[in-house]
Amino acid sequence: PYNGPSAAEILQKRIEFLSPSMFCFYKKPLNVVDGKMQYLFDEDGRRYLDAFGGIATVCCGHCHPDVVEAIVNQTKRLQHSTVLYLHHAIAEFAEALASKMPGDLKVVFFTNSGTEANELAMMIARLYTGYHDIISIRNAYHGNAAGTMGATAQSGWKFNVVQCGVHHALNPDQYRGVFGSDGEKYAKDLQGLIDYGTTGNVAGFIAEAIQGVGGILELAPGYLPAVYGSIKKAGGLCIADEVQCGFARTGSHFWGFEAHGVVPDIVTMAKGIGNGIPIGAVVTTPEIAQVLTQRSYFNTFGGNPVCTAGGHAVLRVIEKEKLQENAFVVGSYLKERLTSLKEKYEIIGDVRGRGLMLGVELVTDRQEKTPAKIETIHVMDQMKENGVLIGKGGFYGNVFRITPPLCFTKEDADFLVDVMDHTMSKM
Ligand code: PMP
Repeated sequence: PYNGPSAAEILQKRIEFLSPSMFCFYKKPLNVVDGKMQYLFDEDGRRYLDAFGGIATVCCGHCHPDVVEAIVNQTKRLQHSTVLYLHHAIAEFAEALASKMPGDLKVVFFTNSGTEANELAMMIARLYTGYHDIISIRNAYHGNAAGTMGATAQSGWKFNVVQCGVHHALNPDQYRGVFGSDGEKYAKDLQGLIDYGTTGNVAGFIAEAIQGVGGILELAPGYLPAVYGSIKKAGGLCIADEVQCGFARTGSHFWGFEAHGVVPDIVTMAKGIGNGIPIGAVVTTPEIAQVLTQRSYFNTFGGNPVCTAGGHAVLRVIEKEKLQENAFVVGSYLKERLTSLKEKYEIIGDVRGRGLMLGVELVTDRQEKTPAKIETIHVMDQMKENGVLIGKGGFYGNVFRITPPLCFTKEDADFLVDVMDHTMSKM
């Protein structure tokens, strides 16, 4: 049993002592106390099916025993900084990660977060190419430090940053985008951005294969191969941000970019890599990695023994429990069931995504695609009252984000859809 302070007491402390910018999803904020695989438990021991997984973070399941064991064992033995001495956990996890990558992508820089990974990736691209301009896609989220906030392309996430050399290309958004699903047309526009908006040379391009924060938007087919061609011609490097769509989540592939038949020059990752513990990584080729030897590059905790021991355990669990296959099978089933819900409720404008990275966009008018923002919040709130947690996102805040731990079962999928159905039927 839980003997700690109540939700109300925690909320009071949060208001008084924590940043006023922190937000809660629910009218009655949820006090989570315990986690087990795809379930969370509140202060009264009430169980919730977690279909958001801490924002696509928990890939193996909450408190997965193998991951916990690896972390605890390493913590008991030694935890220290990453850089100064040898440690087997760091080297072994780097080797294991490299074995999951295509091509010559085999040199790993560990960081503490996705923001750090993307900052580093963009710096490497600038150093390697000698150019400065970076292109990211409108509606993207890449982090909250100076450079990554520049690359992030939604006003809601941008403070008063210097927009230092980042251009935002059209979003190849198959639902709302001007060219529909024609990826090559969006890619042509990006070529125009290079031709008219830069010297003709760029340092790089950064994109997620499926925008997470942006509302589970999968890049239109044909887009990435064409864009990678343009970027290469302009002397730049292609960066794949796999912070949300990596680590087997998309089911059909281990990495999101693989569904597009491209091989990036740099891959960044975080969230799922550690099943909830803070670790991120940048993976690139030996040749590109050389640029960081120009000066000292140092990160006290990036890739520390505890986090890398945990990360390595995550990879083993994904393999042992066939979580990629599960994401494919259960994700396809869940998408099918959500799609049939769309036939029942006018308010569902679009169902999309891959594997266990699914989105449901709510609109008050299917023709106009008017965002149903209030209804989105209402359904989320009611679903929580009925024991199911989902996320939301998208530029208008009207897209459900379904990114559960990859151990999610068909029964869980049924429960989620039944609860969504029930909630919508009462509206
Ligand atoms: N890239 C993507 C695609 C993300 O979704 C996020 C976090 N939402 C980040 C980068 C930044 O990661 P972090 O919050 O760990 O800095």
